[in-house]
Amino acid sequence: ADPSVKPAELLASPLTQLQQHGALPLPVRLYQDHQGLGRRNSSGVDLTVLAQRAPLAQALAGCQVLPVAEATPAEVDAAMARLQAGFGGWNATPVEQRAAILRRAADALDARLPEFCALLVQEAFKTQGDCVAEVREAVDFLRYYADEAEQHGGAMQGRGVFVCISPWNFPLAIFAGQVVAALVVGNTVAAKPAEQTPYVALKMVELLHAAGVPEDALVLLHGPGETVGARLTAAAETAGVCFTGSTQVAQIINRTLAAKQGQVVPLIAETGGLNAMLVDSTALPEQVSDAVVQSAFRSAGQRCSALRLLCVHESIADGVIEMIAGALKELWVGKPADLATDVGPVIDDEAFDNIAHHVERLKREARLIAEAPVHDAVPRLIKPVAFEIRKASELGAEIFGPVLHVLRWNGEPDAVIAQINALGYGLTLGIQTRIDSRALRLADKARIGNVYVNRNIIGAVVGVQPFGGEGMSGTGPKAGGPNYLWRFAAQPDTGAAA
Ligand code: GLU
Repeated sequence: ADPSVKPAELLASPLTQLQQHGALPLPVRLYQDHQGLGRRNSSGVDLTVLAQRAPLAQALAGCQVLPVAEATPAEVDAAMARLQAGFGGWNATPVEQRAAILRRAADALDARLPEFCALLVQEAFKTQGDCVAEVREAVDFLRYYADEAEQHGGAMQGRGVFVCISPWNFPLAIFAGQVVAALVVGNTVAAKPAEQTPYVALKMVELLHAAGVPEDALVLLHGPGETVGARLTAAAETAGVCFTGSTQVAQIINRTLAAKQGQVVPLIAETGGLNAMLVDSTALPEQVSDAVVQSAFRSAGQRCSALRLLCVHESIADGVIEMIAGALKELWVGKPADLATDVGPVIDDEAFDNIAHHVERLKREARLIAEAPVHDAVPRLIKPVAFEIRKASELGAEIFGPVLHVLRWNGEPDAVIAQINALGYGLTLGIQTRIDSRALRLADKARIGNVYVNRNIIGAVVGVQPFGGEGMSGTGPKAGGPNYLWRFAAQPDTGAAA
């Protein structure tokens, strides 16, 4: 921990923290752990931030999540017509003005951190540490895209009406990131948040409107993907789609867009992952077990970036597995609102049933390493659990929960990377080794969007670790990175002769 860091500064967003402390982004796709600020509990939750929890607790006590109405087909159609009509004016607004609105919204969100944390606990059952991190990430997206858009200035023009469809696992950060990226370039936006988390989205849209986004530049539409999402993507006005969710739904959207007459509509998709961590014989077991616990169990494993498959060299496997088993027993699994909680409930009954079914199968077919105890009687708590499996193919499909699969290997690490590539996803990868040249070589061979060396594999920082995958994990460009906004823009006429 850096003793010069004051507790108040820890409430600042990660990007701001890095700027203030002079930490520089590392090149390529290798990132060091920037998370050494402050004291953390076993889940990496920043205890110094939580010590300032009084406003959070107050907000939580007063927090109410209200039901919202599903948009009817007529409302979807009217919204699209309105956004089409609003496009000209918004696109003609100088980029500096649009960026200023984003910055105003960032300041407002920053000031309302406790309230949004409370909403995230109530609606998405996030732990308080996850809530703080998520609000800070949303603030980062707003400020970063404002800076990026301004830097490219007049070279960026909107395409028209963008449809943004976002997931429940980051109902504020991903929702806001998609929407403001599309807006700041000059597009108008139809935003459809996940059905599980409509209210956080509603509050964020109100905040954006209050900051100056015109009513006819941003319309929120609630409802299921099968009805409201499908109608939005098929609409004649749709000039682009930004989607974060499952690979399967991304492919459905792609087919819808492909069938449109008279236009080629781009899709920006960030989808699933079957993320692995490769641990060689030189790795430090304590570091590995800490990184594994963070990556596999934090947020109840409900991150696209979460660790699913730990590939550990057989020479150190016993020691690493023992440490992970010990760490699992220390996790506090319980009520999300409690400060001590490391792992809270999963999002809904369907998620619970899927994960529970997978765990039951593994209890029959694989070796149980350890399971965390549950501390509170809260619905839909899945005990974080680790299993040893014999081959990567036993993994099955992506399981979006706190379940870790461990596989021993021997021979060449390059062959393990080839196996990981063969899974077909390419979102995050961890490499744990003390041989620098090996880390570089393996990172180069991996067909993976975000590679992290000797640290956990979650929590990409906006502007520092652009986030996104390849293969079945998405189309790119990476969110929170310098190329992201271009995909939302029409191709500008630079006036140069070909
Ligand atoms: N950006 C998040 C992270 O790095 C994951 C986003 C997601 O789960 O979709 O952990």
